[in-house]
Amino acid sequence: MKTNYDFMMPSVNFFGPGVIAKIGERAKLLGMNNILIVTDSFLHHLKDGPVKQTEESLRLAGISYTIFDGVEPNPKIRNVQAGAAMYQENNCDSIITVGGGSAHDCGKGIGIALTNGEDLAKLAGIETLTQPLPPLMAVNTTAGTASEITRHAVLTNEDTHLKFVIVSWRNVPLVSFNDPLLMLDVPSKLTAATGMDALCHCVESYVSENRNPITDAQAIQGMKLIGQYLRRAVANGHDVEARTNMAYASLLAGMAFNNADLGYVHAMAHQLGGQYDAPHGVCCAVLMPTVERWNMIASPERFADIATFLGENITRLSPMEAAEKGIHALERISEDVGIPTNIKSIGADPKDFELMAENALKDGNAFSNPRKGTKSDIVELFTRSYEA
Ligand code: NAD
Repeated sequence: MKTNYDFMMPSVNFFGPGVIAKIGERAKLLGMNNILIVTDSFLHHLKDGPVKQTEESLRLAGISYTIFDGVEPNPKIRNVQAGAAMYQENNCDSIITVGGGSAHDCGKGIGIALTNGEDLAKLAGIETLTQPLPPLMAVNTTAGTASEITRHAVLTNEDTHLKFVIVSWRNVPLVSFNDPLLMLDVPSKLTAATGMDALCHCVESYVSENRNPITDAQAIQGMKLIGQYLRRAVANGHDVEARTNMAYASLLAGMAFNNADLGYVHAMAHQLGGQYDAPHGVCCAVLMPTVERWNMIASPERFADIATFLGENITRLSPMEAAEKGIHALERISEDVGIPTNIKSIGADPKDFELMAENALKDGNAFSNPRKGTKSDIVELFTRSYEA
């Protein structure tokens, strides 16, 4: 636990049903005149969806915009290049990202390419950016990654199949929007995957070496809310109370990991995402019980806490039994929302484990993991997750 720390989050955050209507007015206040909206083709064409509502608010405020809808899941460098070219061709002066983590990260990547140079893979790492990005606002549409408020831009090099992270305070969007009404039509499988990603952010922040009292408070409340509302949001996407609480939990989880950092689950999930283009939330959810069971000895009391936050009874259990209950709670929630149990089901191939383990240990998320592993430990964790 850190006792001296700095803490970062975007300066302005709009939260609640209907807040999207305020985006035009806010763009005007920021002096945005000619915006590049960064999204994917599905959201672009969704009737009355998040993009249409963003456009409506900008039109009412008299602001011009161009839409780039070339974002792919696990956004690729080619997406960033195409978006940056469209920004320049249309003389844009600012960016609004609309979507989940992929849209936000692609938008951050576009901003980085325009101001810090196009060789994005070279900028992987911590605080490598020397120039500010163009003004950027983020409209979030999944309760999961919290990229709308974080300093991370996660991109994939499509040639090497390597997912890399550019971590910088310059990446934090100026303004974020979390309107749960934009999330009502997220399909249940995606609700489950993104919700488990948010839970993983809480768990990894709560056991991270870089945690502090503020991130603990956020992670604890995030876990309680996800334990209470994720199943409901998966069962009925139009349950506004469940959606609102999941959006809030995701935001809390994002503030927590933006400051406490993450661990081996994310470091390893990035390898699965880069190598097999698998959905990020599913990768995290499948790996989480195996990795956290291995982490348990580093901090059994923290895993016992997690059990109680997720509604388990740990009275009269030994410390290790109580900690095991925390892992059991993660497995139960995963099973209830339909997450697969092993990485075989998402296309993992054991012949790749050596290389993926090597790269996982270089991923920025690995450094704050509470238990320190070697390459062979990580290979073993991939293998256990494969056979689970
Ligand atoms: P996503 O952004 O890839 O979206 C997945 C799919 O959901 C897309 O096809 C999209 O069209 C659809 N979708 C999004 N919103 C919808 C809505 N409201 N209704 C219906 N469909 C909708 O998924 P994600 O899980 O939000 O983002 C994953 C990416 O974010 C990964 O690349 C991951 O590595 C990254 N990530 C980034 C951070 C960060 O801090 N930058 C943190 C965690 C994960």
